[in-house]
Amino acid sequence: MESRTILIYSAELASAEYSASHPFKPVRAKLFMELLHRYYNLRGDRFSIKRPEPLDEEILYLFHSRPYIELLKKAGRGQFEPEMLRAGLGNDENPVFKGMFDLALTIAGGTHVGAMALVNGEAETVFDPISGLHHAKRDQASGFCYVNDVACAIADLARKGLRVASVDIDVHHGDGVQDAFYATDRVLTISLHESAATLFPGTGFETEIGVGAGKGYNVNLPFRAGTDDEIYLSAFEAVVPALLEWFRPDIVFAQIGADAHREDHLAHLNLTSNGYTQVVSRIKALSSRMLAMGGGGYNVYRTAALWAAAWSSLSGMQPEDKFTGLVGGMMYGPEAMVGSLEEAPFVLEGREKELCAAEAARVVRYIRETVFRIHGI
Ligand SMILES: [Zn+2]
Repeated sequence: MESRTILIYSAELASAEYSASHPFKPVRAKLFMELLHRYYNLRGDRFSIKRPEPLDEEILYLFHSRPYIELLKKAGRGQFEPEMLRAGLGNDENPVFKGMFDLALTIAGGTHVGAMALVNGEAETVFDPISGLHHAKRDQASGFCYVNDVACAIADLARKGLRVASVDIDVHHGDGVQDAFYATDRVLTISLHESAATLFPGTGFETEIGVGAGKGYNVNLPFRAGTDDEIYLSAFEAVVPALLEWFRPDIVFAQIGADAHREDHLAHLNLTSNGYTQVVSRIKALSSRMLAMGGGGYNVYRTAALWAAAWSSLSGMQPEDKFTGLVGGMMYGPEAMVGSLEEAPFVLEGREKELCAAEAARVVRYIRETVFRIHGI
């Protein structure tokens, strides 16, 4: 059955940016919208758009410290203070600029609006392309993230008694979300990412499985640089479905960052559109209600195309190119960065393939022997 799907979107938010040269580009959401209109029939009562609204400030404090939020407010007024540097603010990664607090609050509000639409039964699936800022810490900005929209919204749902699982396929470890729920059994946190050996933020080892009541409720699947669709999907299948079936979440938060794609210039995995859409499709199939968040993806045209391809699994709608009648027939963006919804497969070969496969098998074995054993899976 076609499920009810909500897209969180506002043109103003999609035209925002940190600075002209900053790699985090909300315009990806606008490009994605153009592709949606091109490939899908968006009319009908099973699809609607909701605008992100600024988050109720009190929800911020379910995760962030008050002194940090005060600093963010000052920074958002364009004021700079030396102590901001200690909070990760005012560097190239997390610049201080006028309006940044409002921007962060609206992004976080979009995630929360989406989560509440699932809680209220307005939809089974929500996609918010400008969200999933999983690196922000309790009192520190990190990796382009000021406010951790994921942690704040999950914390609000958890206090309302809902069981929430977080599945993060962004190529970077979801460290801020891990920190938020590391000691609780109320939230199951799973992150699949490129190994800390080669990529920011340098955490997300398989040995980080939670503490105290949270032991066994935090799962990391780090992949060796170079890992392709085949290895990634088989590790996903060996770990994620069993965990979600055991935990039975009411709602799944899926950070579906597109930066594990092989054309992403900030990371080194080798996923193609085929692997990416299959993973999103599997998470969707395993979730009764799902909030998908756009996360990272620094090849803007490719990211928009990957989200548009994943939209089919998220919404149950079938893509159709109204202009040529051929799925994947459209070339998009400047000639140098052309993309389409479908891509040729890529298979890693030789010694690198062996090394990546062996590492994934080792990590899967570790998770089965620790986390699965704790829960009797
Ligand atoms: Zn990322």
